[in-house]
Amino acid sequence: MINPQLERKLNAILGKGRVSTGFAETLVYQSDGLTLHKAQPGCVVFPESTAEVQSVVLACLAADTPYVARGAGTGLSGGAVMDGGVIVELSRMNRIIAIHPEDRYAVVQPGVVNNHLSIAAKPYGMEFAPDPSSQMVCTIGGNVAENAGGPHTLKYGVTTNHVLGQTAVLGDGELVKTGGPWPVQRGSSFSSFLVGTEGTVAITTEIIVRLMPTEPGVKTMLAVFDSIAAATDSVTAILSAGVLTSALELMDSHIIKAVEAHPSPAVAGRRIRLRYMTQANARPPTFVVFCSRPKALPDSYSRYLVNSLRENFDLPGVPIRLHLRKGRNPYERGA
Ligand SMILES: Cc1cc2nc3c(=O)[nH]c(=O)nc-3n(C[C@H](O)[C@H](O)[C@H](O)COP(=O)(O)OP(=O)(O)OC[C@H]3O[C@@H](n4cnc5c(N)ncnc54)[C@H](O)[C@@H]3O)c2cc1C
Repeated sequence: MINPQLERKLNAILGKGRVSTGFAETLVYQSDGLTLHKAQPGCVVFPESTAEVQSVVLACLAADTPYVARGAGTGLSGGAVMDGGVIVELSRMNRIIAIHPEDRYAVVQPGVVNNHLSIAAKPYGMEFAPDPSSQMVCTIGGNVAENAGGPHTLKYGVTTNHVLGQTAVLGDGELVKTGGPWPVQRGSSFSSFLVGTEGTVAITTEIIVRLMPTEPGVKTMLAVFDSIAAATDSVTAILSAGVLTSALELMDSHIIKAVEAHPSPAVAGRRIRLRYMTQANARPPTFVVFCSRPKALPDSYSRYLVNSLRENFDLPGVPIRLHLRKGRNPYERGA
């Protein structure tokens, strides 16, 4: 529950359908990727512009109510969780505003899914290099806040090496524009400072990111080692041979066993891709499951999903409804 006066104000700023306060609607916001740490937010708001984010922040400040930004909620540090306050959910600010291939940069809203930028830049022979393993769903705003890296980090660096500028709403509601398309512009160092602050200093509402030319060719190799030490020695051997790979990933035997124990379902050898989201206000709690092949999903896997959702959302014994649907857009398809 949040203060009713603040709820009215948020409704006035954002309009109908963009302020969620019901238990079922806000259930999935209880945690991020770190599901051990949970808290029930008082409300979740869905701004669509920088001006709206600023108005929300000012309203929260006036009501002395804490708030936190949230992208896709894949963070593993419990940062996008809020006990009783307001979650500012940025998934609707998901526009790629401009791609400038000639100058190798793009301007994006924070809710753009990491991988969607690389898909959009592909026709220009460019990509967004930071590639956390969650890149199919995590947002660029979240990447900036967490200074995310990924397998490409070895060659291309982490998110901070690819952020040229930002528009952000500071903790006191002030709007700042830092950096710009060219490196070392006014405010560049403040923009770099904001990267990695996990939303504690500002909410980023627009980002200018560097684009890199796509590699002309990629060869993937798998090597099996008898020990972790031998595997890590191979990294030194590869680098000292003068080869800078675009990615190196190590899986130990525990991870390999875990992956093999929970495969995504496959029918006739083809993997079925799944994503889910909650349906607002539904009783019993309802999860819409986007599935690449809904009709082919085995019943046993639906049962497994229900049990996992119950466990993840702390709903022991509560009936859960699943709506299986084919994903209609890149987000729903997890493309
Ligand atoms: C399967 C899996 C694999 C992962 N792999 C990697 C990996 O390889 N490398 C890696 O670095 N991380 C990895 N992560 C962690 C996570 O995906 C990244 O930290 C990602 O950057 C978070 O993005 P998000 O949109 O989900 O952010 P959220 O989880 O929603 O938020 C993360 C933090 O950023 C803040 N935040 C979000 N948006 C904004 C904004 N616009 N302005 C200000 N603050 C904001 C939130 O308040 C919170 O503190 C992985 C997570 C999972 C679940």
